[in-house]
Amino acid sequence: MKKAKNIINTANLTRLVMVLAVLLSLVAVFLVATKRTPGQMRAARLNECKSVVMVASGDTLSKLLLEQGLTHNDVNEIARVLKADAEISTLRADRDKLEFVRPHDDAPVSKIVVIPSPWRQVELTCNDAGAWDCKTMDIERDIRAVYKSGEILDGDSFYLAGQRAGIPAGILVDVYDLLAFEMDFERDVRAGQKFSVLYEENFSNGQKIDNGRVLAVSFEALRGNVKMYRFRKSDGTTGYYDENGNGAIKSLKRTPINNAKITSKFSRNRKHPVLGYTRAHKGVDFRASTGTPIPAAGAGRVIARSYNRGHGNFVKIRHNGSFETLYAHMSKFAKGVNVGTTVRQGQTIGYVGSTGYSTGPHLHYEIIKDGVHVNPMTVKLPAISNLGTADKKKFIEYRETLDEGMKQLEKNPNMYIQL
Ligand SMILES: [Zn+2]
Repeated sequence: MKKAKNIINTANLTRLVMVLAVLLSLVAVFLVATKRTPGQMRAARLNECKSVVMVASGDTLSKLLLEQGLTHNDVNEIARVLKADAEISTLRADRDKLEFVRPHDDAPVSKIVVIPSPWRQVELTCNDAGAWDCKTMDIERDIRAVYKSGEILDGDSFYLAGQRAGIPAGILVDVYDLLAFEMDFERDVRAGQKFSVLYEENFSNGQKIDNGRVLAVSFEALRGNVKMYRFRKSDGTTGYYDENGNGAIKSLKRTPINNAKITSKFSRNRKHPVLGYTRAHKGVDFRASTGTPIPAAGAGRVIARSYNRGHGNFVKIRHNGSFETLYAHMSKFAKGVNVGTTVRQGQTIGYVGSTGYSTGPHLHYEIIKDGVHVNPMTVKLPAISNLGTADKKKFIEYRETLDEGMKQLEKNPNMYIQL
């Protein structure tokens, strides 16, 4: 089967989608043909005896090796080689796996395979001199782009609709993260709206291991269709761009906490629930339970970490350009967040609470532009990365090819693109 290496490379992708047409007829065959597991193939080849041990809590390398009948000398030598050649000095419970291979049933162990991830194997073999050789191998990833689409039904949340469409939870979280730059899930989601996601699935030896990255997402939001594509620029950096090639990742997030319901909108004029009289609501309130981490809406520097009667515990961040954000009613601040601390976008700065003038646990979030409070849901936000002329041209070609590929997948939901 023909394999194209890199989806981000435009030239390859053009080939990919041509391959896709051929694949339409081949994939069914391919899926059946790879049913044979590597274990079966190996067993057929050799008489050797193999046992697999999943590292459990309390296990140490020496304990596991001694249990397999290895000598103390072997144990020391193996520990030394593992550290020197594979940078492995401890085993992780419930994550690392060991394979012990013997030439036959009651022979001593001749080979040990340490498997720290589905994508890496470290093979230790006992040579004729009785010393242990160590070899690290990267497992080749077979990446497939799969397409899922769905529709919002009456009374649905995007999360429910996404689950119904078969989008894995981890991918849904990433999609939320992306869409939150452009959408307000409270206001922009209605029954009848369609959405789609193209994402990577990683396979090894025909078996699915995990999911990869989101490659494209589209959502028919109320304020217009939101589309984002992952693209690698000529300088090697990757980012998400809208269909015209404008940076989709904004310097600030409109909704810092994913999937939090808006309980009070920005308004120049509202009756305050605690104070009783009418005054402006200078931010947006998001409902969330006490203790929910509050991520910084954008990268910046903390300029206030304090308490006042109205805001309770609050943090204020100055971002690039003319923007500041404020987060109020926190139950507590995150460790290490002080005035002067530099924070990344998404870094936890505190936890939801109900301190100050507040009727219940929620996040009160403000965006201040050039000293003036603006509506976080509608303010025009600068993009973090934009494309130069040459990259933009490449992006548009790439995007058109990808759109064409997704059209094919829409018609054939069980198909995938071999990357
Ligand atoms: Zn508020």
